[in-house]
Amino acid sequence: MKREIRVALVGNPNVGKTAIMNALAGTNEMVGNWPGVTVQKKTGRYHFRGFDIELIDLPGIYSLTSYSLEERVTRNFLLSSDYDVVANVIDATLLGRNLYLTLELLDMGIKPVIALNKIDELEKLKFSIDKKKLSKILKLPVVSVSAAKREGFNDLSEIFLQMATGDIKPEGFTPVYSEFLEEAIDLLKLKIENQVDSNFPYNLRWFAIKLLEKDPEILKIAEKYLKDSKTILEEIEQIEKEVKERFGLDLPTFVSKERFLLASKIAKEVVGSSSPAESETLSDKIDRVITNPITGIPIFFFIMWLVFKLTFAFSQPFTELIDRIFSNWLPELVKTYLSFLPEPLLSLINDGILGGVGAVVVFLPILGILFFLMSILEDSGYMARAAALWDNFVKVFGLSGASVIPMILGFGCNVPAVYATRAMRSPFQKLVTMAAIPWMSCSARLTVYTVFVAAFFKEHQATVIMGLYLLGIVLALLLAFFMSRFVYRQEEDEFFIELPSYKLPSWNVVFNETWIEVKDFLYRAGTIIFAVSVLVWALASLPPGAKYAGENSLIGHVGKALTPLFHPIGIYDWKPVVGLILGALAKEVVIGTLGTLYGTGESGLVEVLRSVFTPESALAFLVFTLLYTPCAATMAAIRQESNSWKFTLGVIAIDLTMAWILAFITYHVAKVLL
Ligand code: GDP
Repeated sequence: MKREIRVALVGNPNVGKTAIMNALAGTNEMVGNWPGVTVQKKTGRYHFRGFDIELIDLPGIYSLTSYSLEERVTRNFLLSSDYDVVANVIDATLLGRNLYLTLELLDMGIKPVIALNKIDELEKLKFSIDKKKLSKILKLPVVSVSAAKREGFNDLSEIFLQMATGDIKPEGFTPVYSEFLEEAIDLLKLKIENQVDSNFPYNLRWFAIKLLEKDPEILKIAEKYLKDSKTILEEIEQIEKEVKERFGLDLPTFVSKERFLLASKIAKEVVGSSSPAESETLSDKIDRVITNPITGIPIFFFIMWLVFKLTFAFSQPFTELIDRIFSNWLPELVKTYLSFLPEPLLSLINDGILGGVGAVVVFLPILGILFFLMSILEDSGYMARAAALWDNFVKVFGLSGASVIPMILGFGCNVPAVYATRAMRSPFQKLVTMAAIPWMSCSARLTVYTVFVAAFFKEHQATVIMGLYLLGIVLALLLAFFMSRFVYRQEEDEFFIELPSYKLPSWNVVFNETWIEVKDFLYRAGTIIFAVSVLVWALASLPPGAKYAGENSLIGHVGKALTPLFHPIGIYDWKPVVGLILGALAKEVVIGTLGTLYGTGESGLVEVLRSVFTPESALAFLVFTLLYTPCAATMAAIRQESNSWKFTLGVIAIDLTMAWILAFITYHVAKVLL
């Protein structure tokens, strides 16, 4: 008899899969990557009653679609059947939300054991789950455990054994949705059945459901496997039309809503309060204050202010130190000890390589502190409340409440703002939010505003700067609106009705997460930022002998060639254009470059600018600076988080186009008004 059992752990993020691994396998864990992708793979082993049990921690996901890398990794693993038992780990305090994934597993024909984790937390909240009833409804074994208290693991291991040896064969409930959806599924299933042979590797009902959800991967497979995929696609279009007419929803949303409703219904049937007499817990009382707009919004802004203050104030000395190390100390050392090298090589080392490394390292203090604070907000349960607080306000724009924190962080720096979208659950809203973030005026752009405003709008400083901030916000909201209406389907926000319980964050987890994320940034975004920095250095310094970013450098030539594009917005000199190109590295570079090119340094710049720009073209230039391409680090962050060059380049294209259009409008309107 086989003495080895492979158990796959599946569940939403943060349900405690890792904690369960730790509790069961202790130190016998291995961390690696899933083949071909940069998603972490954790496995662990332990012995139980003479069996060798291997646990495979699948990436945490909310649903089994194929939009994110994590979802694809998990789904493909589940389809591979390379396991004996599936354990669906559920956060007992968020049963309804977690059951969504369980229903998807059942749709797929997978019959997992349900591990209800955090049962200690549930008891603290004075709730209980009727395990027997849940097991009867789902037709699956249900075990309650607490990774924190290390309880329930014997029972769980016992079930693994019995399932692997076939002593328990769960029947598994087949989710039954509304009559309308069931009819659609049956119809499609029949059509597929007629078109495939017996070797078709997928569960037909599941395949039909995924087609109705318009899952991109399944659509591709359908085209490959089905003899006449066209009629099936037409059938789906037909069903979608009917759904739109009858329910006003697109098809994927309709299916996910049905599944969500079923999950909530099951949760409602089995969750009970163990002390009905106690009507309002402390957590409820706090929630009433925090999620009520009147008290909640000031609290929210206070917390955001604190996050800002801590992030930027604490990181400043480190940032300055790093700046000094990379732009003074190390170049000094190079000059002293490597002066025998030829000048171009010295410049490559100093400005290219050290500059590039510096451009990456300078983000570490900000990101480190911010990841740390975000992790606390998330772990304590505040993040979900802040999201709930804003949900109704921003829904109009196709954003979710969870977009608000990242967007506000964008005012400090767009890079951590993009990373903050990690806490968002909906992959679409995450993309929409990421696309909107670059128009949040970061502090680097403020340096450009300040110099130009001093030169042209002394009387109206505050108005102009406020105007730019507002313009960014309004356009970002409009962009989100358009993207969520026309590019990505809108998702239902009902997921948020259950709030996680408040708790003290576990410092171990917080430190660990921060470290992993900082490392990830260095590894994935760092390489891109470094490459762009060196490339820009090369453009500005070559051919040899050319003055840095001067007329004869490559970038000078590019700048001159591009200048005619800027004539319609009132800019005729090539130097500001070069400033903008270099500004793609980091926006504060614009001012430094102008100072160098006009030979005035930053202090004398105000005078020169008055001779190069008119107030109208200055305003247009500011609007352009606000909206045009995100800086290299933001691009790298967007690329890392979206995992797609296509999306990243799309955002850059939209930003450049809108920058030109808005600058053009600004220039001409200003000419009429000023
Ligand atoms: P994963 O994302 O599913 O791997 O989840 P983790 O193992 O990282 O756990 C997420 C959070 O839940 C951490 O803060 C854990 O300390 C906490 N946690 C995990 N299991 C339990 C439990 O049984 N009880 C309580 N109260 N907290 C738990």
